[in-house]
Amino acid sequence: MTRFGDNRCPVCRTALWAPDSEMIGTKKCPRCGAELWVLVGSKGPVFFARPPGQTKCQFLAALGAAIHGTTPEEMEAVLKKADSLDIVEFVMELEDAAGSA
Ligand SMILES: [Zn+2]
Repeated sequence: MTRFGDNRCPVCRTALWAPDSEMIGTKKCPRCGAELWVLVGSKGPVFFARPPGQTKCQFLAALGAAIHGTTPEEMEAVLKKADSLDIVEFVMELEDAAGSA
């Protein structure tokens, strides 16, 4: 997984900055026009390519499934019931997993 604090476009490697205040946001790369997800962890932001039509829940489910060893469908069902605090913890967990990889 891309490391947190690597604030570059995953497509063209242009340095980007994260939108303020949102832990999980979206951004369009100003250079190559790629649609991106932004996760902001304690070490800084990390950017992921955003396939057309992918929901925030599906995006997190895909990342979470990889570290939990479940399917994205199972992960998505869990995330749909999660509140905002659960999501914060979830992002921190992703950051830990990325940092130790
Ligand atoms: Zn780009």
